[in-house]
Amino acid sequence: MDAHDRNLGMDRAITRRDFLNGVSLTVAGSLLPPELVRAAQQEFAPERAPDYYPPTRVGMRGSHAGSFEVAHQLRDRGPWDLSGAIRTGETYDLVIVGGGLSGLSAAYYFIREVGRGARVLILDNHDDFGGHAKRNEFHYNGRMLALNGGTLNIESWDRYNEHARRVIRDIGIDIDRFLASNENNRALYRSLGMTGQATFFDKETWGVDTMMIRRGGSGRGGGARYTADDLIHTPLSPQAQKDLLRLYGGAHHDYLPGLSSAEKKVRLAKMSYQDFLLDLVKVDKQVVWFFHNQGAGNFCVGVDCFPALFAWQEGLPGFAGMDLEPSPDGLLADLPGGHHGRQIGPGGGPTVHFPDGNATIARLLIRWLVPDAVPGKSMEDVGAAHVDYARLDRTGQTSRVRLNSTVVRVQHEGDVSRAKNVVTSYVRGGVTYQVRSRAVVMACWNMFIPYLVSDLPPSQKDALAFGVKGPLVYTSVAVKNWTAFQKLGVPSVSAPTMYHTGVSLAEAVSLGELQHPQTPHDPIVLHMTRYPMAPGKPRKEQHRIGRADLLGTTFEAFERKIRDQLARNLGGGGFDPARDIVAIAVNRWPHGYAYTYNPLYDPMEWVYTSTNDRPCVKARQPFGLIAIANSDAAASPHTDAAMLEAHRAVQEVLQRRAMPLL
Ligand SMILES: Cc1cc2nc3c(=O)[nH]c(=O)nc-3n(C[C@H](O)[C@H](O)[C@H](O)COP(=O)(O)OP(=O)(O)OC[C@H]3O[C@@H](n4cnc5c(N)ncnc54)[C@H](O)[C@@H]3O)c2cc1C
Repeated sequence: MDAHDRNLGMDRAITRRDFLNGVSLTVAGSLLPPELVRAAQQEFAPERAPDYYPPTRVGMRGSHAGSFEVAHQLRDRGPWDLSGAIRTGETYDLVIVGGGLSGLSAAYYFIREVGRGARVLILDNHDDFGGHAKRNEFHYNGRMLALNGGTLNIESWDRYNEHARRVIRDIGIDIDRFLASNENNRALYRSLGMTGQATFFDKETWGVDTMMIRRGGSGRGGGARYTADDLIHTPLSPQAQKDLLRLYGGAHHDYLPGLSSAEKKVRLAKMSYQDFLLDLVKVDKQVVWFFHNQGAGNFCVGVDCFPALFAWQEGLPGFAGMDLEPSPDGLLADLPGGHHGRQIGPGGGPTVHFPDGNATIARLLIRWLVPDAVPGKSMEDVGAAHVDYARLDRTGQTSRVRLNSTVVRVQHEGDVSRAKNVVTSYVRGGVTYQVRSRAVVMACWNMFIPYLVSDLPPSQKDALAFGVKGPLVYTSVAVKNWTAFQKLGVPSVSAPTMYHTGVSLAEAVSLGELQHPQTPHDPIVLHMTRYPMAPGKPRKEQHRIGRADLLGTTFEAFERKIRDQLARNLGGGGFDPARDIVAIAVNRWPHGYAYTYNPLYDPMEWVYTSTNDRPCVKARQPFGLIAIANSDAAASPHTDAAMLEAHRAVQEVLQRRAMPLL
C-alpha cells in the first residue's frame, strides 16, 4: 500500500467485504448423489441464521456475489441439466419469479382477488427481497441510518395509476401524512445555510481541480443560470464562458427558423441535446461538459443519447426563442413514470422519498404478505423495524418468499394449451429444486425470460430480448459527520466527469424512529451515483460496455475511487476520508433501469404512443399458464410501471383460471 492509499484510508478498519467478481460457480446440484443433496438441503438455510440481515451488509451490494453466477452459467452454457432435480413436493396456486416491487405486488393482487388462503411462492436470486428497491442500513454510535441502495422514490405521485395507488394505500402508506411529518426536515439544509450549488472541475479533464460554488437560487437540469462572476474563476475558456452565458441568457434565438412548432419538435426529437448545443446553438465544446450526464438519470447514458426534445420538455436552456407549443397533456401524462422526457415536466405531484427509498414499499409489502416477519402496524414503525428473514419461508405458510434461489426453467406440464400445471426449477445453495403451480408470473427481467421459458414463440423471444437494461451504481457511504458540507455551504457536489457523478447528503426525511440527523456533527449517509457510459457509441452498446465495467470492477477499486473523490470534492470543507468514513456499500446494478424508448434510436410511435407495435407489448403476452410482469413489460423504469404490469399479469392468470377448459 502506497502513501496515497494510506492517506485515503484504504488501510482503515471500516466495515467492508470484498468478493471476487464474475467467478462462475460450478453448480452441479442436479448431479449430486442423494445423500449429498439431502445434506445440502439441510445445510443451506442462511436466512435462518440469527445474524442474517442483508440490509446491513456492505461492500459490493446490488448485484452481489452469489446472486448472478447461476444465471450467467445458464446464459453461457445452455439449458440447465434437470435430470437430478429434487421435487420439493410443494404445490402452489401461483409461483412468482422475482421478488422486486413487481413480484411482491403481483402476490398482493393475486391474494386480494383469490383470498388469504391462496398459496403463493416468490423466488428471488438475491439475499434480500425488493429487487432494485433495496435498503442499506448502517449502525454507528448507537444510531440507525438508512439509505436506498436502489429505487429512490415515488415520482409524480399524482400520476400513479389506480392499481399502484391501491397497493401503496393498502399496505399502509399515507403520502400526505408522511409529507406533512417531514415539513421541517425539508427545510433542514437550507436552515443551516446550505443553499449553494457546487460544481467540481476535475484535474483529469481540466488540468487542475477547481470547485465552483454558486450561492442561492436554483435552476432545473444542467445546474443553474450562471453569472459572469460564477464563471470567472473556473477553468472554462473566455469563449466557453461567453457561450454559457448566451445559452442561459436573454438571447431568445430561434435555432430552427422557418419551421412550424410541430416540424421543429420532430427535428428536435431526432437530434441529441449535444448536437443541438454544438450544431445549432454553436456553443464552445467546453459548455457541453456541464450537460455531460444529462439524461443519465433517465436512460443511464449521457447527453449524446439525450433527445433535444426531451431537454426542452425538462426545461433545459436553449429553447426560449423557438416558439414551441406546449405538448398536450393527454394519454402520455398517464403512462407510468414522470421522467420520460416525453411527458409534461411539472404537474405530476410530489416526489416522495422515504429514508431507504422504495425499500419502504417492499418492506410494507412483505409485512402485508407475511405479517409476523415485519413487526409493527404502521407506516412509521416500519422505518426502524427489524425484519425476521427466517419467517419468510416456513412450511405451512400460505405466502412464502424464498431468497437465494435462481430460477433456471419454467415449463408447462404437458401441452401449453391444455396444461394444468407449471413446473418451476430453481437453484438454491448449489442444488436444483422443482415446485409445481397452477400458474407462474415472470416478474423478473425480460431479456432473461427466453432462457427460462424455452418454448416461447421465436417472435416473442425476440421482443423480450429487444431492450437492454441500463447499468448504474448507487453508492452509500456512512460518515461520522457532515460538517464539510456545512462549511462549504452546499448539500451536494456535482462532478460531471468524475467516477461518480457527484455526492449528496441523504435527503432529509424521517420515518418513525428512523430519524434523520439534525446537526452536522451527527453521522449521516452520503449518496453517490455512477453511470458507466461509453459516450459516442450507440445506446445499447454503451449499456453493454457499462455492464461489463461494473462486473469487472472490484470493490477495492471502487473504494479507492470513492475515497479519492470525497477527499477532492469535500476536502475544502475539511473532509478526511481516512478519518471520516465509517462504511461503504456499493450497490451496482448491471441490469438496472428498464429500457425506455428513445426517438434517437426507436420509432417515434413507440415513444409517443402506447401502440401495440412496441416490443414491450409483444413481449408481455401470456403464454399458457405463464404471464409476464416487471417494469420491462411497460418499457418504463418506474415503480408504478412495475405495479401496473403486475396487476395485468395477475388478471391474465385469473382469466385463464376461469376458462372452462381448465
Ligand atoms: C438504482 C436504481 C434507482 C431507481 N430509482 C427509481 C426511482 O426513484 N423511482 C422509480 O419509480 N423507479 C426507480 N427505479 C426503477 C426500478 O427498477 C422500479 O421502480 C422497480 O423497482 C422495478 O421493480 P421490478 O420488480 O419490476 O424489477 P426488479 O426490482 O429488477 O425485480 C426483479 C427481480 O427479479 C429477480 N430475478 C431476475 N431473474 C431471476 C431468476 N431467474 N430467478 C429469480 N429471480 C430473478 C431480479 O434479480 C430482481 O430481484 C430505479 C432502479 C434502479 C436500478
